Amino acid sequence: MKNYVGIDIGGMTIKGIICDGEGNVLAEGTIVTGCELGGENMCKNIAILVDNMYANCNADRHLAAAGVGCPGLIDSKNGVVVFAGNLGLNNFPLVRVLEEMIKIPVKITNDANAAALGEAKFGAGKDYSDSILITLGTGVGGGIVIGGELFEGNKSAGAEIGHMVIERHGNHCNCGRRGCFETYCSATALMKKTREVMEDNPGSEMWKTYTSETATGKTAFDYYDTDYAAKEVVDWYEKYLACGIANLANIFRPQVIMLGGGVSAQGENLSKPLQKLVDKELFGGTDFAPVKVVTASLGGRAGAFGAAALAM
Ligand SMILES: [Zn+2]
Repeated sequence: MKNYVGIDIGGMTIKGIICDGEGNVLAEGTIVTGCELGGENMCKNIAILVDNMYANCNADRHLAAAGVGCPGLIDSKNGVVVFAGNLGLNNFPLVRVLEEMIKIPVKITNDANAAALGEAKFGAGKDYSDSILITLGTGVGGGIVIGGELFEGNKSAGAEIGHMVIERHGNHCNCGRRGCFETYCSATALMKKTREVMEDNPGSEMWKTYTSETATGKTAFDYYDTDYAAKEVVDWYEKYLACGIANLANIFRPQVIMLGGGVSAQGENLSKPLQKLVDKELFGGTDFAPVKVVTASLGGRAGAFGAAALAM
């Protein structure tokens, strides 16, 4: 039986798995990224991680191929990290360098796409051919899987769903546009809104446990049932999130849209009200081709699973 390596590169650590073609995990591990010493050094660390994981599998396990999810702008066709600011990499031929070290074929995509593929193949999207993952973290990322394949756009530069505008003259975004999905629906945006609403509402229950400095993306959800100000924050957040989800649903019409990242820890408290809001905005209604809104199921392992799926 063929087995596959999945590598998920983060700014501080690299996560790895070895799994079979069904996604059954045979070994798992982590190692420091080490990119401050350059891309070659980072690849050496990946090779050490693969060796360590392999040693924990049965000795006769054959590794057929490896996949890598990497942050930044990735040319997946040519196997090059075009630009990854957090890793300090520019035009680094990761696939060629890593293939020389680990002696098996390597494929690469960006980390958000890898996570989307992981959830699509082995997570909350495994029963569907068309799915979209939206990651609600520091920013808003995600990936699109159509007919079981990643949709990456020309030179893999597409599927930047966080930079879809949902408010024409809205908040300034790092990308240079205004009103991007990310500026309303990231955990960062949720936290900022919570602090603003607290400061405008000295009577809010949220002040009992938090200051405007210590409030997090979870705070407003915790007080939703008992505090008018917390409800205002969550309703505001869900309204924008539903707008972005409905846009994606109407363009791609996937069977399922999965929510990942820190905010998705809210589970059904988030997905149930969103489902209602999205259903109202779904083109043609929900009878013919409904779109489910669910939370993702693989957590921090989605990227490594997806990288392994890429290798398959
Ligand atoms: Zn933007």
